[in-house]
Amino acid sequence: MAARTVYTKKELEDLRKRLVEERDELQRQLTTIEETSFAASQSDMSGEVSFDEENADAGTFTFERERDLSIENNVRDLMRKIDRALARMDGGTYGVCSRCGKPIEKARMKALPYVDLCIKDAQAQTRR
Ligand SMILES: [Zn+2]
Repeated sequence: MAARTVYTKKELEDLRKRLVEERDELQRQLTTIEETSFAASQSDMSGEVSFDEENADAGTFTFERERDLSIENNVRDLMRKIDRALARMDGGTYGVCSRCGKPIEKARMKALPYVDLCIKDAQAQTRR
Protein backbone atom coordinates (compact mmCIF):
# COMPACT_ATOMS: atom_id res chain seq x y z
CA MET A 1 0.00 0.00 0.00
CA ALA A 2 2.46 2.59 -1.18
CA ALA A 3 0.98 4.87 -3.78
CA ARG A 4 -1.76 7.36 -3.11
CA THR A 5 -4.27 8.40 -5.67
CA VAL A 6 -2.91 10.25 -8.68
CA TYR A 7 -6.19 11.93 -9.54
CA THR A 8 -7.01 15.58 -9.27
CA LYS A 9 -10.01 16.67 -7.27
CA LYS A 10 -11.86 17.45 -10.48
CA GLU A 11 -11.17 14.04 -11.98
CA LEU A 12 -12.28 12.33 -8.80
CA GLU A 13 -15.48 14.32 -8.76
CA ASP A 14 -16.27 13.32 -12.35
CA LEU A 15 -15.48 9.68 -11.68
CA ARG A 16 -17.46 9.68 -8.46
CA LYS A 17 -20.43 11.10 -10.30
CA ARG A 18 -20.18 8.33 -12.89
CA LEU A 19 -19.90 5.67 -10.23
CA VAL A 20 -22.90 6.98 -8.33
CA GLU A 21 -24.96 7.20 -11.53
CA GLU A 22 -23.94 3.70 -12.52
CA ARG A 23 -24.88 2.45 -9.08
CA ASP A 24 -28.32 4.09 -9.32
CA GLU A 25 -28.84 2.49 -12.71
CA LEU A 26 -27.87 -0.93 -11.34
CA GLN A 27 -30.23 -0.44 -8.42
CA ARG A 28 -33.03 0.25 -10.88
CA GLN A 29 -32.18 -2.89 -12.84
CA LEU A 30 -32.21 -4.92 -9.65
CA THR A 31 -35.61 -3.57 -8.69
CA THR A 32 -36.96 -4.43 -12.14
CA ILE A 33 -35.58 -7.97 -11.95
CA GLU A 34 -37.06 -8.46 -8.50
CA GLU A 35 -40.43 -7.12 -9.56
CA THR A 36 -40.42 -9.34 -12.63
CA SER A 37 -39.60 -12.52 -10.74
CA PHE A 38 -42.11 -11.63 -8.06
CA ALA A 39 -44.81 -11.18 -10.71
CA ALA A 40 -43.72 -14.46 -12.28
CA SER A 41 -44.00 -16.36 -9.03
CA GLN A 42 -47.38 -14.75 -8.36
CA SER A 43 -48.82 -15.85 -11.68
CA ASP A 44 -47.28 -19.25 -11.02
CA MET A 45 -49.34 -19.65 -7.90
CA SER A 46 -52.57 -18.36 -9.35
CA GLY A 47 -52.19 -20.88 -12.16
CA GLU A 48 -52.30 -18.30 -14.92
CA VAL A 49 -49.37 -19.91 -16.60
CA SER A 50 -50.46 -22.90 -18.55
CA PHE A 51 -48.05 -25.71 -19.13
CA ASP A 52 -50.40 -27.53 -21.47
CA GLU A 53 -48.72 -26.45 -24.68
CA GLU A 54 -45.87 -28.89 -24.47
CA ASN A 55 -43.43 -28.57 -21.66
CA ALA A 56 -41.45 -26.16 -23.79
CA ASP A 57 -43.17 -23.31 -22.04
CA ALA A 58 -42.10 -24.53 -18.65
CA GLY A 59 -38.56 -24.88 -19.90
CA THR A 60 -38.48 -21.34 -21.20
CA PHE A 61 -39.93 -20.14 -17.97
CA THR A 62 -37.19 -21.75 -15.90
CA PHE A 63 -34.54 -20.58 -18.30
CA GLU A 64 -35.73 -17.00 -18.02
CA ARG A 65 -35.71 -17.14 -14.27
CA GLU A 66 -32.21 -18.56 -14.22
CA ARG A 67 -31.06 -15.92 -16.64
CA ASP A 68 -32.57 -13.27 -14.38
CA LEU A 69 -30.73 -14.76 -11.44
CA SER A 70 -27.41 -14.66 -13.22
CA ILE A 71 -28.04 -11.07 -14.31
CA GLU A 72 -28.97 -10.29 -10.73
CA ASN A 73 -25.71 -11.78 -9.47
CA ASN A 74 -23.71 -9.79 -12.00
CA VAL A 75 -25.50 -6.61 -11.03
CA ARG A 76 -24.89 -7.21 -7.33
CA ASP A 77 -21.25 -8.02 -8.01
CA LEU A 78 -20.82 -4.80 -9.96
CA MET A 79 -22.53 -2.82 -7.22
CA ARG A 80 -20.09 -4.21 -4.68
CA LYS A 81 -17.19 -3.17 -6.91
CA ILE A 82 -18.61 0.32 -7.19
CA ASP A 83 -19.05 0.54 -3.43
CA ARG A 84 -15.44 -0.48 -2.94
CA ALA A 85 -14.29 2.07 -5.52
CA LEU A 86 -16.22 4.80 -3.70
CA ALA A 87 -14.68 3.70 -0.42
CA ARG A 88 -11.21 3.88 -1.99
CA MET A 89 -12.00 7.40 -3.15
CA ASP A 90 -12.82 8.33 0.42
CA GLY A 91 -9.67 6.63 1.62
CA GLY A 92 -7.49 8.39 -0.94
CA THR A 93 -6.30 5.20 -2.63
CA TYR A 94 -8.58 5.34 -5.66
CA GLY A 95 -6.90 4.21 -8.89
CA VAL A 96 -4.18 2.34 -7.04
CA CYS A 97 -3.81 -1.34 -7.91
CA SER A 98 -4.85 -3.41 -4.91
CA ARG A 99 -2.32 -6.07 -5.83
CA CYS A 100 0.91 -4.32 -6.81
CA GLY A 101 0.20 -0.90 -5.30
CA LYS A 102 1.06 0.96 -8.48
CA PRO A 103 -1.25 3.48 -10.10
CA ILE A 104 -3.74 1.85 -12.46
CA GLU A 105 -3.64 3.13 -16.05
CA LYS A 106 -5.80 6.25 -16.24
CA ALA A 107 -7.44 5.26 -19.52
CA ARG A 108 -8.49 2.01 -17.87
CA MET A 109 -9.99 3.81 -14.89
CA LYS A 110 -11.90 6.12 -17.19
CA ALA A 111 -13.30 3.20 -19.15
CA LEU A 112 -14.05 1.10 -16.05
CA PRO A 113 -14.06 3.44 -13.06
CA TYR A 114 -14.67 0.64 -10.55
CA VAL A 115 -11.68 -1.61 -11.27
CA ASP A 116 -9.08 -2.11 -8.55
CA LEU A 117 -6.40 -3.96 -10.50
CA CYS A 118 -3.96 -2.67 -13.11
CA ILE A 119 -4.09 -4.26 -16.57
CA LYS A 120 -1.16 -6.56 -15.81
CA ASP A 121 -2.66 -7.88 -12.59
CA ALA A 122 -6.14 -8.16 -14.05
CA GLN A 123 -4.73 -10.28 -16.87
CA ALA A 124 -2.77 -12.40 -14.42
CA GLN A 125 -5.93 -12.97 -12.43
CA THR A 126 -7.94 -13.97 -15.49
CA ARG A 127 -5.30 -16.51 -16.48
CA ARG A 128 -5.43 -18.29 -13.15
ZN1 LIG B 1 -1.08 -4.12 -10.36
